[in-house]
Amino acid sequence: MLVSDVDGPRVLLVEDDRRLAAMVSMLLVEEGYRVETASDGQQGLHRGLTEEFEVLIIDRGLPVLEGLDLLRALRERAVVTPALVLTARGAVLDRVEGLDAGAEDYLVKPFEIPELLARIRALHRRHLAASESLPVGPRRLVPATRTVIDPRGTQSEVSLSERESALLAVLARSPRQVFTRSQLLAMVFDRADTLGTVDTYVHYLRRKLGRDAVDTIRGLGYRLGNR
Ligand code: CA
Repeated sequence: MLVSDVDGPRVLLVEDDRRLAAMVSMLLVEEGYRVETASDGQQGLHRGLTEEFEVLIIDRGLPVLEGLDLLRALRERAVVTPALVLTARGAVLDRVEGLDAGAEDYLVKPFEIPELLARIRALHRRHLAASESLPVGPRRLVPATRTVIDPRGTQSEVSLSERESALLAVLARSPRQVFTRSQLLAMVFDRADTLGTVDTYVHYLRRKLGRDAVDTIRGLGYRLGNR
């Protein structure tokens, strides 16, 4: 009997090889994931459409409904959960087909467990990036990873310190609100800090993200840059 962490990310594993499914779910549960399994494509489609998951792991060769057809069906119904496809084949064409069907990643059997776990962690980070981000002008702040990403596709990703990210998150959650330095001091910083600390961190944010990342409202305080 597997005991899942109540708060762990939910993973749907669609795999007809029951021994492999049992082993992978056990390892994922040990890593803190909550794992649901389906042993054919139809079952996988049902669960994928009716439940919320953070990551999908789909075997390519499945009874009833083949893995890539399952994935296409989910994507057609706007299920955007990141998916890792498992396959016994590793030809370039298979990989291309998998990516075309809407897979984010592809792993050839037999695989090493640490590699599977690393890929799933990466997919989960991607899911966080997609689901928990705040608009900062044309870019987005991902509080979970403390990065500012540019969804327009350029590779530029800006890493923030914990306090920079916390300050920017407060501003970005209420983009029209002007915050006084005292408010920001209380919300983001420690008792030992001073109002000057707030100014310093605004300066750091502007240095990393551009001058217009944060607006100064004279006599009042700061607001998220209004671009
Ligand atoms: Ca199979």
